Amino acid sequence: MRKPLVAGNWKMHGSRSENAALVRSLMDQLRPEWRAEVLVCPPFPYLWETGRQLNDSGIGLGGQSLCAEPQGAFTGEVSAAMLRDVGCSHVIVGHSERRQLFGETDEAVARKFVAAQAQDLVPVLCLGETLEEREGDRTFEVVGRQLEAVVSVSGIKAFAAAVIAYEPVWAIGTGRNATPEQAQEVHARIRASLRALDGTIADSVRILYGGSVKAANARELFAMPDLDGGLVGGASLKADEFAQICAAAG
Ligand code: PEP
Repeated sequence: MRKPLVAGNWKMHGSRSENAALVRSLMDQLRPEWRAEVLVCPPFPYLWETGRQLNDSGIGLGGQSLCAEPQGAFTGEVSAAMLRDVGCSHVIVGHSERRQLFGETDEAVARKFVAAQAQDLVPVLCLGETLEEREGDRTFEVVGRQLEAVVSVSGIKAFAAAVIAYEPVWAIGTGRNATPEQAQEVHARIRASLRALDGTIADSVRILYGGSVKAANARELFAMPDLDGGLVGGASLKADEFAQICAAAG
């Protein structure tokens, strides 16, 4: 039985005071009896302070990206060891904004995935097609290629300690989520391609859906058999909304 995970990607939002209020309200609202694991991913400068505030609340802390290199002359970059050092357990890898706006290739994403695991961080590997690719009937080709690029470097066993997030690019930040059936179809294909390599990994790996998840659509999305929670952007900045999404997953 896979435990659902709901991860909040704060992107480049927030301030010390806003984050403190958000986390306080979230900790007030989340209930220990809910089954879902919850994770928040603040911008780098706020990781340490947010982690201190989360303390032993059970809410995990994740980075939004990392450098594939372990250390050295890489101005502006943050290593896996640094994320670990400030209390992160997870890190988002290959988010479509990183791929599209910052030129991260499939190969770069694979190197980051491996670098994260080398420091015992759980990578949350994002996969997803653009609208043009979907309309060109290339969804499975694109998502399959993105996945294969990582598996070929990390090996399939690495997915015992990883999370996958299917995030159609056309659904991110647009208010237009994939339908539960559209999401399920891709999740099932991802799981099937893992199953061809290792049945145990395929059954155990959590595949999150991301793309305009909100309280109003979370329940029907999470009801799909291959959806194991969500990666949530905009709605993770509102404590009430995010808490309702966590409740829907748990
Ligand atoms: C995301 O940034 O990963 C995301 C899914 O954003 P949103 O929920 O705002 O679509």
